[in-house]
Amino acid sequence: MERTETFSPEETFRLGQKLGEQARPGELYTLTGDLGTGKTVLTQGIARGLGVEEPVCSPTFTIVQIYEEGRMPFYHFDVYRIGDVEEMEEIGYEDYFYGQGLTIIEWAELIREILPKNHKEIRIEKDPEKGFDYRRITISEVTK
Ligand code: ADP
Ligand code: MG
Repeated sequence: MERTETFSPEETFRLGQKLGEQARPGELYTLTGDLGTGKTVLTQGIARGLGVEEPVCSPTFTIVQIYEEGRMPFYHFDVYRIGDVEEMEEIGYEDYFYGQGLTIIEWAELIREILPKNHKEIRIEKDPEKGFDYRRITISEVTK
């Protein structure tokens, strides 16, 4: 388990960038944390680290947004508004989760039952006592 503290959005972005630079094809990272903790900011850094230049925002009306311009395909899921995992089946999630790109899933706890056995779990938490822009980011390897 690896724990990082950030004190600004820029710092969280840079952590993401480092993760994106280190990512290997076929990896899957879950992002867990309340609304507004910085999941999308971290994802934007990851995209940059992969070499994606176009702006990355949360896929609001689609569950997944695909970016092909980096050094591997990048699949950005935000499953916040998902009603049922059936919807994941419908979009053929397995092609992404078990493909040759990097998959990032915001709100992954909502689709826990279909997560691959092995993945990286990234948890972002605030701590009001440490200030408005403080975030604790914990990265752990999940091996079921
Ligand atoms: P989420 O995707 O988790 O809902 P966003 O990434 O969209 O959250 O938004 C995070 C918000 O928190 C942004 O407005 C960002 O500027 C702000 N913020 C403040 N401090 C931090 C920090 N240390 N890391 C990331 N975001 C931060
Ligand atoms: Mg988000």
